[in-house]
Amino acid sequence: MSILIAGFQHETNTFAPTKADYEKFVHGGGYPPLSRGSELDAIKEMNIPLGGFMKQAEEYGYDLIPVLWAGAAPSAHVTEDAYERICSEILDAVQSNLAALQGVYLDLHGAMVCEHLDDGEGELLARVRALIGNDMPLVASLDLHANVTDLMLESASVLVTYRTYPHVDMADSGLRSAIEMHALLNGEKRYLSYKHWPFLTSINAQCTFIDPAKSTIEFMEQLEKNVASISLTTGFPASDFEGCGGTVWGYGTDQLNIDTAVNILYQRILDDEALWDVAFLSPEEAVAKAIELSKDAKKPVIIADTQDNPGAGGDSNTMGLIKALLAAKATNTAVGLITDPKSVAIAIEAGIGNNVELALGGCDSVPEDSPLVATFKVENISDGCCQYDGPMMNGVKVSVGPTVCLAIDGLKIVACSDKAQMLDRNLFKQAGVIPEDMGIVVVKSSVHFRADFQPIAKEILIAKSPGPLTVDPADIPWKHLKKGIRLKPHGREF
Ligand SMILES: [Zn+2]
Repeated sequence: MSILIAGFQHETNTFAPTKADYEKFVHGGGYPPLSRGSELDAIKEMNIPLGGFMKQAEEYGYDLIPVLWAGAAPSAHVTEDAYERICSEILDAVQSNLAALQGVYLDLHGAMVCEHLDDGEGELLARVRALIGNDMPLVASLDLHANVTDLMLESASVLVTYRTYPHVDMADSGLRSAIEMHALLNGEKRYLSYKHWPFLTSINAQCTFIDPAKSTIEFMEQLEKNVASISLTTGFPASDFEGCGGTVWGYGTDQLNIDTAVNILYQRILDDEALWDVAFLSPEEAVAKAIELSKDAKKPVIIADTQDNPGAGGDSNTMGLIKALLAAKATNTAVGLITDPKSVAIAIEAGIGNNVELALGGCDSVPEDSPLVATFKVENISDGCCQYDGPMMNGVKVSVGPTVCLAIDGLKIVACSDKAQMLDRNLFKQAGVIPEDMGIVVVKSSVHFRADFQPIAKEILIAKSPGPLTVDPADIPWKHLKKGIRLKPHGREF
């Protein structure tokens, strides 16, 4: 029995400054670079859905036909060129292996908006379905931030998702996909039931380390004991299209059974609506509170600069929080990562130990933001390569390109050449900064940093500094949402 496997991941913030072209997928931007055929074996040991699927499917004894795995850092739209090139490779492989195929598994994100179409995953699943016919199992795993559309649900035999944010269980979602694939190949029937959430939530409210997400997922897993599979996504609330928002869905061996479970879970989310709201601090408030809390503290206070999270489409270069830290005379503070290849090149030219004039960072698309023009001391130069040791992407090797540590007053700023989210302490350490030794640590991340930083943190603060990612969905200039959806918990309707 042969199963064709492929991965194609992108989370699209349609308001972000930069698009994802083909080169971005070739590089990977924090994900493994574009891999084909036997190169996919390297993913097997990583916390990536496709890896979890491969391990479990091989245990069942299936032959796998690996096509490709492509992911790019979250950003604005996927270009038509990138989407069509990557999809064509997958579809050509399905077509040419059709006679030998018993099933298809896809490792997808579920919030891909392209230049030429809104529902990237729905379109890909529908195209695969058109080739393989109605009877062949087509199983896909999705991110917890998937915007799950009717087309996706109607085209796939089964969809499952991650159940954690930070996403420490990505490989497990592949494993669950393999279990469902195995059931389908053994002739089990699956009946679908689903409901879309009537309100949007900020990504900061979606962390499964804390409530309401934590207890909702636990509740869902109790319900799953009586059905084949049940899932929820919180949605990715920065994709301006009709399918944006959370969804609850599942599969049963009969319709009544799964309708009942999905309705119970949906009702719980409605009952808890107020709990899905979140409070944010201004940069000045966050810095003042961090300075106060860090006095006599043995662990660093972490500030999440959430509106410039490159994991959600930011360019990781806004300066608002750094300026607030300098104004408040913060000391023993580390900030990372600032992506600014030009400044990094100038600092490397100047050399370690020397002072250099820079216009550091600054996001062009954010009117309230501007570069920090100042003199910095170059404290460290590195090649930007490291291996993640934290729980989320454990074992994955990444490069953020040539990197420097720049000192100014009480701050150490890690500036690099390529974009990656600060989700692992080794991204600081590769530049000579030990986050555990700092009083305050500012991370360009919304939630993913928690997996590796929460254990070393005295406290975590969420700052809303001007940036390309508007974290409160009620503040976003929406144009294409579904009519009637509430823009935040108990907020006004679109
Ligand atoms: Zn996600």
